[in-house]
Amino acid sequence: MKQIELVIQNQSGLHARPAKVLVNLAKRFKSDISLQHEAKRANAKSMVSVLTLGAVMGSRIQIQAQGEDEELAIAELEAAIRSGLGDNDEAYALPPAAKAESKPAAPPVQPKPRQSEPGLFQGLGAAPGIAIGPVFHYQAEELNLDALNVEQRDCKVRFLDALDLAKEQLEALHRQMVEKKMAAEAAIFEAHKELLEDIDLVDAAQARITAGTSPAKAWQSVVDEQAAAVAALKDPLLAARADDLRDVGQRVLRLMLGLGEKSMALPETPVVLLARELSPSDTACLDAERVLGFGLVNGGPTSHIAILARAMGLPAVVGLDEAMLALAEKTPVILNGNDGVLRASPSAEALIQAQAAQQRWLENRLAAQEKASLPAVTLDGYHVDVTANAGSAANAVEALKMGADGIGLLRTEFLFLERSEAPSEEEQYAVYHTIAETMKEKPVIVRTLDIGGDKPLPYIQLKAEMNPFLGERGVRLCLNRPELFREQLRAILSAAPAGNLRVMFPMVGDVEEFRQAKGMLEELRRELGVPPVPVGIMIEVPSAALLADKLAPEIDFFSIGTNDLTQYTLAVDRGHPSLAAKHDGLHPAVLRLIAHTIESAHRFGKRADICGELGSDPLAVPVLLGLGIDELSVSIPAVATVKAQVRSLTHADLQTLAREALDCSTAQEVRALVKKKLG
Ligand code: PEP
Ligand code: MG
Repeated sequence: MKQIELVIQNQSGLHARPAKVLVNLAKRFKSDISLQHEAKRANAKSMVSVLTLGAVMGSRIQIQAQGEDEELAIAELEAAIRSGLGDNDEAYALPPAAKAESKPAAPPVQPKPRQSEPGLFQGLGAAPGIAIGPVFHYQAEELNLDALNVEQRDCKVRFLDALDLAKEQLEALHRQMVEKKMAAEAAIFEAHKELLEDIDLVDAAQARITAGTSPAKAWQSVVDEQAAAVAALKDPLLAARADDLRDVGQRVLRLMLGLGEKSMALPETPVVLLARELSPSDTACLDAERVLGFGLVNGGPTSHIAILARAMGLPAVVGLDEAMLALAEKTPVILNGNDGVLRASPSAEALIQAQAAQQRWLENRLAAQEKASLPAVTLDGYHVDVTANAGSAANAVEALKMGADGIGLLRTEFLFLERSEAPSEEEQYAVYHTIAETMKEKPVIVRTLDIGGDKPLPYIQLKAEMNPFLGERGVRLCLNRPELFREQLRAILSAAPAGNLRVMFPMVGDVEEFRQAKGMLEELRRELGVPPVPVGIMIEVPSAALLADKLAPEIDFFSIGTNDLTQYTLAVDRGHPSLAAKHDGLHPAVLRLIAHTIESAHRFGKRADICGELGSDPLAVPVLLGLGIDELSVSIPAVATVKAQVRSLTHADLQTLAREALDCSTAQEVRALVKKKLG
């Protein structure tokens, strides 16, 4: 047996995400691995078990491994824990007001209403902003299994099937959120899925089922017990994970009982939603058109509910006294997520003040938004297009509304995912046509299917690959499946005359690949008798960046995909749970490839754009501008802020900054340089 003692360094302790990294790592070893914290012992391969350890920052834990690979297991777990278990604690960072009030190991705050002012409830601000409107009470539907008298035969879906279905639902929710550019928040649902794969949880439920308890009751009792154990933890951040457990518990239960997904019936007119609690799934599905903000009795400023509310731009207050649940429906209230106050039936004066504060807050947010449709020009007249990355026809409408100068990247995978057969040419045409019409004269860069090892499709038989990211993906896959490729190209070409469509090939590695793809496009264009469209490639493979001067004469534009370019240049998996900090597109090695690409494009009179996430990083925007980028294609919500930032910069200074950045040795040096130069 091998063992080691370590101190947890994560600011927020072993909360859901680092626990997940630890558990996944432990599962890779055959040895039995346990963790001990004070008197508690946990199975390192069970997420729930690890969470119930209640390890906070500074906790000492002993790791024990027993088995054939015990030595390696201890070494790798030690390295992972010492490097922070992939946790940058960013999404969990408290809003400033909450930070001041919450000390690491303090019990959850349960503020009481201030008696001096009736109708005033003091809670904790969980998401900024001010909501003014009528109360709507939401009560989650309780599944009382005793009342339902759920026996074996009443379960419509078997336990293990329900687990699988729940995982599918969570995967879909995760994907939707990633598409909405809430990747960090989407990880919440990945962690939920992880809970459903928890050996301890599933085994305990199975054991009760085997012993004769009905599956629904067995599952609920296990979830209730484990959630109670997690909720009893001293640290409020860890205790808040009990909500996650109950949420996934309910999801599986509903499936077993054939009840389908929960839905919330909201009044037509917008409301301030008050509830004892909301589950993360409820929160992710809130209709922002009908809910102005929400106040809860339970939940903390670091709960997943708060994280989601911030990402969705919904003002939220948590930790409110439960007396607020007695407020009559439709009572007018002011909910202030900045200072954590709920004020019922406000006086005319308080209402005027709140409206003014709300106005100021909205104005600031709108100031950037209002100018969003104006061009992004630096103080000394350098113009850059700011376009949006889109993944659906609805995104195109949204991008236009948010002031985008076009769509710099249309990820067409959305048409191909979550289905059992490929979309027909007609179906594809209809969607591209709609998007072209929506955007009118504004350019839309349609990226051809970028699918492959990491994003498999059930109807495309792919051989198992050792390294899917280095395997048959992007344009390589399409060239090997000409029928699939031709259908898509025909659909794009036919839709192009309806607007300003351009074609872009992903993952091109050299001139030959581009010529082959362009050759097919040209042949189809002649057959269809439609006008030519501009054709470009993504620069996301280092070989293409290095050969940009050879590719530039043949293409119409480059679009630099920094997500993949960084991954391949630095040999850092873009989705790696513990290497996220190393996947930094401001690394000078990546910047040199970007510089060479831009310079090669300009030498041949072509455009060079960016469509990777780096384009909306406030520290990267000045460097990219300094390098001479022509277009930044960013996530839809970032369009207004990126434009506002461009307007505050002077291009001449940025050129010097970019030269200095290229001369740095590390990404950290580049970041420090930009901060120093621009404040
Ligand atoms: C990229 O790689 O930077 C990119 C924009 O493409 P995707 O993220 O779709 O791989
Ligand atoms: Mg890519």
